[in-house]
Amino acid sequence: MINLRVASFGNRNKKDIAITFDDGPNPYFTQKILDTLDSFNVKATFFVIGKRCLEYPEILKETKQRGHLIGNHTFSHKGGDFEMCNDEIDRAIGEVSMYVRPPFYDLSFCGKENRYLQDKFIITGDVDSKDYLSISQDEIFKNVLENTKNGSIIDFHDGSEIDDDLKIRAQKTLDILPKIITTLRSQFNLVRIDMMDLQFIYFPKSYI
Ligand SMILES: [Zn+2]
Repeated sequence: MINLRVASFGNRNKKDIAITFDDGPNPYFTQKILDTLDSFNVKATFFVIGKRCLEYPEILKETKQRGHLIGNHTFSHKGGDFEMCNDEIDRAIGEVSMYVRPPFYDLSFCGKENRYLQDKFIITGDVDSKDYLSISQDEIFKNVLENTKNGSIIDFHDGSEIDDDLKIRAQKTLDILPKIITTLRSQFNLVRIDMMDLQFIYFPKSYI
């Protein structure tokens, strides 16, 4: 029996929380987000799409060099192709990632690659900024601040699987990020996923 381990939050008794970004690298926004994170000396986790790593390997390299954790968010975002994404991350930064996030947090993406995933850490999240919807910056701020508690894993987007979205996708997120970080930092420690005391549940393969 193969078990897959899945965590959507960390220890609720610790003040550690994680900021995560999905669907990059993005040539229009990822570096600006890195600059913002640097200005606060905050390290984050980036769950990247393999096809974007293939297009923008230098941005992925820079993300790692600036101290952030790289996670695997499949190659195509539709196909559940974790191993292909793993190969692109390896090609770009010379190492593989132990952290994976299924698209839409849908664990059914994990079933067909359960052998590859059995030693990985599958990460979803418990706070959805909903920055991918047509909502205001203030609503993104509220979605995050009203739902974050000890151990939270917060989801933002710096990129997109859709080419036409790349130029616009993360503008609101970028603009509101300083206010979000300033507010969160007054109550919590912002850390990378791999620094958290993740609370795993174990799914037998047959359940996925
Ligand atoms: Zn995604």
